[in-house]
Amino acid sequence: MDRLVTFMDSGRPVVLVTGGAGYIGAHTAKALAEANFLPVVFDNLSSGFREAVRWGPFCHGDIRDADAVAAALDAYPVAAVVHFAGLIEVGRSVTRPDLFWDVNVTGTGRLLSALAARRVPRLVFSSSAAVYGSAGRTALETIPETAAKDPASPYGDTKLAGERLIQAHCRAYGLSAVVLRYFNAAGADPSGLIGEAHEPETHLLPLAIAAAMGDGPALTIFGDDFDTPDGTCLRDYIHVTDLAAAHVAAVRAALAPGAFEAINVGTGFGCSVRDVIRTVGAAVGSPVPTVQGPRRTGDPASLVANPARAQTLLGWRATCSALDRIVTDAVRWESQPAYGAGRRQRQPELRSQFAA
Ligand code: UDP
Repeated sequence: MDRLVTFMDSGRPVVLVTGGAGYIGAHTAKALAEANFLPVVFDNLSSGFREAVRWGPFCHGDIRDADAVAAALDAYPVAAVVHFAGLIEVGRSVTRPDLFWDVNVTGTGRLLSALAARRVPRLVFSSSAAVYGSAGRTALETIPETAAKDPASPYGDTKLAGERLIQAHCRAYGLSAVVLRYFNAAGADPSGLIGEAHEPETHLLPLAIAAAMGDGPALTIFGDDFDTPDGTCLRDYIHVTDLAAAHVAAVRAALAPGAFEAINVGTGFGCSVRDVIRTVGAAVGSPVPTVQGPRRTGDPASLVANPARAQTLLGWRATCSALDRIVTDAVRWESQPAYGAGRRQRQPELRSQFAA
């Protein structure tokens, strides 16, 4: 733990951000600091980056390690926890369901026990649109929070289990919790200081940008025979800055003890894979080389939020999630010598993935 005394003297309410060295966690830590909270990041750096922890102290630890979690909670007067720490790769969850249940569910359980023991009043949880099933929905229908829950992957199962465990803690211990079901997080902070950096990268936007910049292979379009206007999948891309603002609103929301709220975080508009490809080509100034591939297992034709509840309950709506703005900010990040393109060039193991 670093710079403890300096930060403790700041008098700002402390928010523990588990997984705060990762993509959405780091953007949320920045947004919390800008809203006059002190974000204390707890992360095991298994997929996050130490250099992304810039807005408050850092506690190195694993969410499954009860002693490490207790040490972080006892070192600071924590007013709320935003819980991102977890595994996210859908494909890996199919081959390693044991690991996903251990980190995402057991880890969340350990955290909840520590919060109950200390009467920490507020939790905001990083959930996902992956909790929803796709049966019986047309490509043009948006998804309300009440839609049927039928995850298509072990990843989605663990997010739903995490939500239910949290709801049970709200009932039993008076915790108030907001679970935010993200649609497709994308883009980067406009400063260019932090952005999307997964290893390996599987997401559409970074792969499309790398391809257009000549930094990666041609982009494979996973299926063009979906029941959508151009045959490619529709997704609700939400700027990570908007997503971070939703977490700040959830930390601040006026909720009674024991309240549990599940809220979609999306725009309500779907963009196709071809929309993204066109927008990236225009932003980079060079078209995205593509190859047509088969559908990816488990990809629904359309995942678009009905975001009305976020407006009603949190007073939040997306304000910077136009696709061209998301792409412009992502391209700025990918062009940073220290992080985006430079990061790929410095790390041979990353480049080797592009050589395939
Ligand atoms: N996609 C694609 N090629 C890629 C990666 C993704 O065509 O190399 C498509 C994918 O099928 C989906 C959309 O892009 O329709 C967004 O995928 P991503 O993995 O970014 O997010 P997901 O929707 O799976 O959370």
